[in-house]
Amino acid sequence: MRIILLGPPGAGKGTQAKKIINEFNIPHISTGDIFRKNISERTEIGVRAKAFIDNGQLVPDDITIDICLERLTYKDCENGFLLDGFPRTVPQADALQEFLSKRELSLDAAINIVVPEDVLKRRLSGRRVCVHCGASFNIETNPPKLEGKCDFCSSDLIQRSDDSLETVNERLEVYKRQTQPIIDYYSNKGLLKNIDGYQDIAKVFEDICKTLGRDPK
Ligand code: ADP
Ligand code: AMP
Repeated sequence: MRIILLGPPGAGKGTQAKKIINEFNIPHISTGDIFRKNISERTEIGVRAKAFIDNGQLVPDDITIDICLERLTYKDCENGFLLDGFPRTVPQADALQEFLSKRELSLDAAINIVVPEDVLKRRLSGRRVCVHCGASFNIETNPPKLEGKCDFCSSDLIQRSDDSLETVNERLEVYKRQTQPIIDYYSNKGLLKNIDGYQDIAKVFEDICKTLGRDPK
């Protein structure tokens, strides 16, 4: 399966990604996670990306396309992948299309998780993420079993610096301006699957599995 996950910040892409990769046994490729790893390791890409991420802007296409397409050449992507947070612009979607076409590959689905904007803001302000594995929790809607600790690896949970109210508002505006056009892009290709993301996590996952033609394990 080659799947992309679309949806605004806070829609639940990361949360669903963890479940989908388990179900379909494919790697989870999150450009946001790749950037955060580079930032914590203070690489050149990390230093360049940080300024954009801190301001709620997208990292420029040239940097983002390079890191994502390079990751797709790894052996673990041979039997499929789940892209989370890429593409986010039309040039990125075009670059992905070119990469796949050259290899005579195609996408199976573009899953678009739809959630009302006021809900997104509440979710993002309550989001806590694992410093180690990136798993996403929520102090209101999806709390960890043990306060402040990741259910999966027991590492500490923190609030992302770009989840401040001001940056969230900017990210949502950037989403509307730069990312929403790719919804039409995938709709025109007949790949778009809209999923109601304003339901509990298990139900969203069930709907995603159904749309991919699979009964969840
Ligand atoms: P994204 O990767 O799309 O930015 P996340 O998966 O990190 O979004 O989810 C954003 C926040 O909302 C997190 O705090 C997460 O725990 C919570 N969340 C995700 N899905 C749901 C859901 N279906 N209902 C309630 N809260 C959710
Ligand atoms: P995410 O973890 O997906 O919410 O991404 C966090 C931040 O990383 C975004 O707000 C962007 O600044 C940057 N980012 C992640 N993916 C992309 C992308 N495909 N294009 C540009 N910037 C990205």
